[in-house]
Amino acid sequence: MPDETQPAASRKSSPPDRAKQGDASELSPKELAEARQYSHLSLKYNLMDKGLDFLYLFIVAAVFARPVDRWLCQSAILDHWESLRLVVFFFMLTAVHALVSLPLSWKADYLLEHRFGLSKLSPGRWGLRYLKRLALAVAFGAILILGLYWIVWITGPWWWIVAAAAFFLVSIVVGQWMPVLILPLFYRIEQLEASELSDRFRRLSEGTGLSIEGIYRIGLSEETVKGNAMLAGLGRTRRVLLGDTLLDRFTPDEIEVIFAHEVGHHVLNHIYKLIGAGLVLTSIGFWISDLALASWVVHAEGVFRYSQLPVSALPMLMLILSVFGAVLGPLQNAISRHFERQSDRYALEHTANSGAYIAAFRKLARLNKDNPDPHWLEVALFRSHPPISQRVAMAKKLK
Ligand SMILES: [Zn+2]
Repeated sequence: MPDETQPAASRKSSPPDRAKQGDASELSPKELAEARQYSHLSLKYNLMDKGLDFLYLFIVAAVFARPVDRWLCQSAILDHWESLRLVVFFFMLTAVHALVSLPLSWKADYLLEHRFGLSKLSPGRWGLRYLKRLALAVAFGAILILGLYWIVWITGPWWWIVAAAAFFLVSIVVGQWMPVLILPLFYRIEQLEASELSDRFRRLSEGTGLSIEGIYRIGLSEETVKGNAMLAGLGRTRRVLLGDTLLDRFTPDEIEVIFAHEVGHHVLNHIYKLIGAGLVLTSIGFWISDLALASWVVHAEGVFRYSQLPVSALPMLMLILSVFGAVLGPLQNAISRHFERQSDRYALEHTANSGAYIAAFRKLARLNKDNPDPHWLEVALFRSHPPISQRVAMAKKLK
């Protein structure tokens, strides 16, 4: 699970000793002001992005969906073959969406990150990554949408239960393949060589079932100066990934506590619990979508039959699912923050080194320009991790 354990700098350019000292102090007033400004702007762009998504899907659903579908039907093949028409419609919908939101993505992902000195990407490489992500989302999205329509067409009024079960299976497969197939498309990942750290890691993971073979260095520094670490994969692909930005910048004690936090996620079965919670929440989500979708189709077409769910209902279906996702976001974030606190506690108990923990978080706040004390609304809406001030306060308490 992605962690806001985020540090920086390429391997060659990091002056280890200087970088590693003096970072444990609290942020200076100037650094604090900068972190607050960065967090404020990120929040603004995040909200604008969500608003734009909803507006776009609503306009397409209300105005363009039926005429575009009729226009596609002029082709005899597309008229006859509904599944193909659905995929073509989805491609068009996503392509225009990407164009509409490109200026905001550029502002939020490229300009903002550069303004605060957090990104290392050139405009060309940023564009390449943007296209790569888009291609992946389009390919994967087309499969999901087609699957969802087939489930509605075939299983009728019970589609939402079948869809939730299918979604559960997809999350397991994706969880399993994420670290071996998807992450390597974006980052260089290599197994960590034996070092002083491996002994520490072995001690911490002994008896937990987390294989010491599965500790990897992930090359985040090509993209960002931010530090991060994560536990990813399921079953045999389960592994801990530590950002090179973290490995190069943090002291062995600090890396050890961050690693212990990831072991905590493994021992406490957080990935499985999140997938289980996802099953419950998607069942509710698809059930509500069922009601909303039926009334929309009746409103637009006059009649609703599951076996004839029209292709033109796609943008409304996507809108309903995104609104539901946004409503659930705060709940998912709250669950995630709870798990993060549990892992923090686990790490503090198993390393008995709250000094290194506090130092690591202060360093992260500094490197990532992470506002240590964001507004509660921002925390509720967008933060999957507790604010750093709270994590430091907990470590102090457990001292
Ligand atoms: Zn975590």
